This record gives sequence, C-alpha cells and structure tokens, in this order.
Amino acid sequence: IIPPASINIQRPKTKRKRNNNNLSPLLSTPTNKTPLLPSPSLAMTTASVIIIGAGISGITAAKELAEKGVEDVLILEATDRIGGRIQKQSFGDVSVELGAGWIAGVGGKESNPVWELASRLNLRTCFSDYTNARYNIYDRSGEIFPTGFAADSYKKAVDSAILKLKSLEAECDGQEAEEAPSSPKTPIELAIDFILHDFEMAEVEPISTYVDFGEREYLVADERGYESLLYKMAEGFLYTSDGNILDNRLKLNKVVREVQQSRNGVVVKTEDGSEYEANYVIVSASIGVLQSNLISFQPPLPKWKTEAIQKCDVMVYTKIFLKFPHCFWPCGPGQEFFIYAHEQRGYFTFWQHMENAYPGSNILVVTLTNEQSKRVESQSDEETLKEAMSVLRDMFGPTIPYATDILVPRWWNNRFQRGSYSNYPMISDNQLQRNVKAPFGRILFTGEHTSEKFSGYVHGGYLAGMDTSKTLLEEMKQSLLLQPLLAFTESLTQTDQRSNPQMYTNVNLISGRS
Ligand SMILES: Cc1cc2nc3c(=O)[nH]c(=O)nc-3n(C[C@H](O)[C@H](O)[C@H](O)COP(=O)(O)OP(=O)(O)OC[C@H]3O[C@@H](n4cnc5c(N)ncnc54)[C@H](O)[C@@H]3O)c2cc1C
Repeated sequence: IIPPASINIQRPKTKRKRNNNNLSPLLSTPTNKTPLLPSPSLAMTTASVIIIGAGISGITAAKELAEKGVEDVLILEATDRIGGRIQKQSFGDVSVELGAGWIAGVGGKESNPVWELASRLNLRTCFSDYTNARYNIYDRSGEIFPTGFAADSYKKAVDSAILKLKSLEAECDGQEAEEAPSSPKTPIELAIDFILHDFEMAEVEPISTYVDFGEREYLVADERGYESLLYKMAEGFLYTSDGNILDNRLKLNKVVREVQQSRNGVVVKTEDGSEYEANYVIVSASIGVLQSNLISFQPPLPKWKTEAIQKCDVMVYTKIFLKFPHCFWPCGPGQEFFIYAHEQRGYFTFWQHMENAYPGSNILVVTLTNEQSKRVESQSDEETLKEAMSVLRDMFGPTIPYATDILVPRWWNNRFQRGSYSNYPMISDNQLQRNVKAPFGRILFTGEHTSEKFSGYVHGGYLAGMDTSKTLLEEMKQSLLLQPLLAFTESLTQTDQRSNPQMYTNVNLISGRS
C-alpha cells in the first residue's frame, strides 16, 4: 500500500490557555433567566463547596447545589474546557465525538434524563441498530460469513458466555462449577467474543440502563456536539455572555494535586501553586485518575477506600476516525456496522460508517479497546493508519482509496482520564462500588464510577452528580442544625482540652463508610 504524500493526522485539540471559556454558539441565545453576575472578587479562593472536575457529574452537582441555594461553589477543572469525556472535535467537515457518542437507554418505561436534556436542546441524533452487525462479518479475504453460520456462531458464543458466568458464580458461592466452555479460537469466534464482551455484554444482565430507560440507543449527530448539553446546563447557573462562561466560579486549567482536610474544612492545592479553601470538596475525577497518583489526600484515604478504587477495572475504548475521498463500503439498510474477523482478538474488529449520521461525510470509525487501544496510543498515527488501511483492503480489495485524514484519541495516556470508563468486575458485591462512592470526612466522591446502576454511561455521571449534591445538601442541613450544639460541646471540649490535650481528634462530619 502506498500512502499518498499528504495525510492529515489530526490531534485532539487543546485550546490555548485563556481566561474566558469558549462556548458553543448556542449560548449566545439570550435566556429567560437572569444570570448571576460574576462575584466582585476575581481571585475567589474560598467557597462552601469545591468541585474537582467539570464533566457531566461535576457540572450537574454544581448546578443542583446552586439551585438549592449553595451558590458559592467553585469548580476547578484541569483542562481548558468543560465536558470531560464528552468532547466533540471537527473532523472532515463534520463534528465527531471523541468520547461518549450514544445516548443509551431510550424508549423504556422511565425517561432517561440525558435524553430529556437532549430533547429540550433539539439535539440531532440517529437511531443505531447493532443487531445486524453479526451478519456483516468479513474474513481476511473479504468474504462475508453466510448468515446462518454467523447466527449459529453468535448463538454458541452467547450460550458459552452465559455458561462461563454461571460457573464463575458457582465458584464464588463455593459450589461445584459446571465445566467451563472452551475459549474462542477461530477468527469468527474471536470477533464475536470481542463484540459480546467488549460491547454487548460488558455489563451483568439484566442491564439496568435497558431495564429502566429502554433498549434503544441514539448516536449524537449534531454539529454543536454532545457537550452542548453541558453548556446548556452551565448557562442555567453560571454567568455567561456571548457564548462564553465569564463566571469566576469556574476555573479552568487548574490541576488539583492535593486535598488536605482538617476538622475545620478542606484546602485544595493546584499544580500552579494556588490554594482554595472550602467546607466540603466533591471529587469528580475518573476512576483512572483516582487510581493514579495525580491527586494526593491528606490525611491519606483509608485502606477500605483505596482498595476499592484499585479493584475497579478501567476500560479503554478508542474510536479511530478515518476520512476518505469517497465511500467504498456498503451503505444500505442494516449495514451501518460491520465486523472484521482476524486471528488476533480485537484487532480492528468493530467498524461503523457515518453515512447515517452525516450523509456524504465519507467517514469510517473503527473501535479498539483495552490492550489494542494502549498499543495504538503508543505508536504513531501513521502506523495506525497503515494497519487500518491493510485491514480495509482485506475486506474491500486493493483498489480502495487511501484515507486522507485520521484522528486517534488517547484516553489512556491522558493524565486527566487514564482510561475511558469504569468496568466493575462481573461478579462483585455492591460493597465495592459503595466504598468507591463513600465520602471520607468532608470529601465526597461523584462521577460515573460511583453510580451503582449506571456506571460507565453519561446518564450514570449525571445521576451521580444529582445524588452527591443531595447527600451534601442533607449533610449541610444537618450540620447547620447541629451548629449550636457543636459550638456548645466545643466550648466544653476546650475547657477539657486544657486539662487533657489528647482529647482533640479529627472529627469526620460524614460517616466514612456506608
Ligand atoms: C471513548 C468513550 C466513549 C464513550 N461512549 C459512551 C456512550 O456512547 N454513551 C455513554 O452514555 N457514555 C459513554 N462514555 C462514558 C461517558 O463519557 C462517561 O461515563 C461520562 O462522560 C463521565 O462523566 P464524569 O463527570 O463522571 O467524568 P469526566 O467527564 O471524566 O469529568 C471529570 C473531569 O475531571 C477533570 N479532572 C481530572 N483530574 C483532575 C484534577 N486533578 N484536577 C482538576 N480536574 C480534574 C477532567 O479533566 C474531567 O473534565 C464513553 C466514554 C469514552 C471515553
């Protein structure tokens, strides 16, 4: 394969640092609400609550607190934008989603709150039907596996996955396990195993998202991006003008490195040497960040908490975008997704064309996960493009055109993410997740990884943010009620303290463990 002289290797964008935050144009539309004016103190360093991270969970928590009267929140975000793992980028004349792309869980008995937000914003979406993907499985010579054979292999793989799960469950319960099914070996078995485990059955059945909100999934295909939902939320409680957030309660490019708590409050230190004080802190950084040493806690987090954090798996999920001069893949009904069967599990297996989302865009997306994601992240995009082209030529022949652009997001090597989303072990008790979520003194934890039912999803992040703010509001109410009593006991303690200095302990206002 001879690559053309000029290929556009596009990097995920990071804007230059600046004071104002560039917002999507939709914010220039005036709202009915009177926005809060920026506080006179531009160097705002104290607040009731500091929120670390401005992804969907952090913004939701901040909005909920502000709406309930706790307006002096301070959001410290490491990057130069809000949105976190919801991030659009222009690529080949359209807007693609580097992170979350689908609103999963639509059409059920309950309404998915993210779907509601999207509907209010008239976000353009298109229905995704993965069910046909199993009938579009290509072998290395470009032949499509016959429908009957593919359906049979798929059924066998599902049965074997269920058997495996049951034997694992039996083993955990100390019962005699049934014989575990043999592992997938042939390329088609490996491809189906990848689709089942890294996509469809990555969660334990029944999948709460589908049960509660419905089984339909919609791909966001809107130039404003999935992230416009967050901007719309921000507009409701932060001061914005001409599409910019001008509110000094949101501080961008603030990388939190230390959270120090004492009985009186919490001090948060950032990489640039700034210090902020608050009564409470909400940490919304991802599970991958919590597993890394980016943020240190003083006193250190207890063992039950750090153990739970380390036990949660992190899934790496990479969507590689490729732009072509024209379409050479089938685009008819039921052909949006197709699969490549290779001897190596997960090797450029799962493909999607973007003609349904953006007709005429000539873009393909291939999804890699875990080890394959880490491998491509560590090599040059030219290398990755060569591999992708070789796979496409296996499927569609040697005469297909070479891609003109490539975009490879790097979620694993991003120190503010360290992965794509949490993936709790298939067999685990809820205690693990409860410990990841449980507050430690004045520090609360939120984010998709703290959502018991919807971890890994945008709606998981949203509902976690709501949940954490409710917990905190309750705690603040309690401590307000208790204040006179605490003041009284404190005066007694101070009297005692003079005679017995040992009596001072670090009081945890919120019980550390659920
Ligand atoms: C590739 C990919 C595909 C996905 N696909 C889907 C999908 O189709 N549908 C779906 O529902 N979900 C999907 N998800 C998951 C979804 O994006 C997440 O569950 C959700 O966005 C997480 O929101 P959050 O608020 O918990 O975390 P985040 O969005 O990660 O927000 C945390 C914020 O904290 C900031 N931060 C981290 N460390 C620090 C620090 N030290 N100091 C200050 N700030 C810090 C980060 O920069 C970030 O902005 C996908 C995710 C990825 C990556």
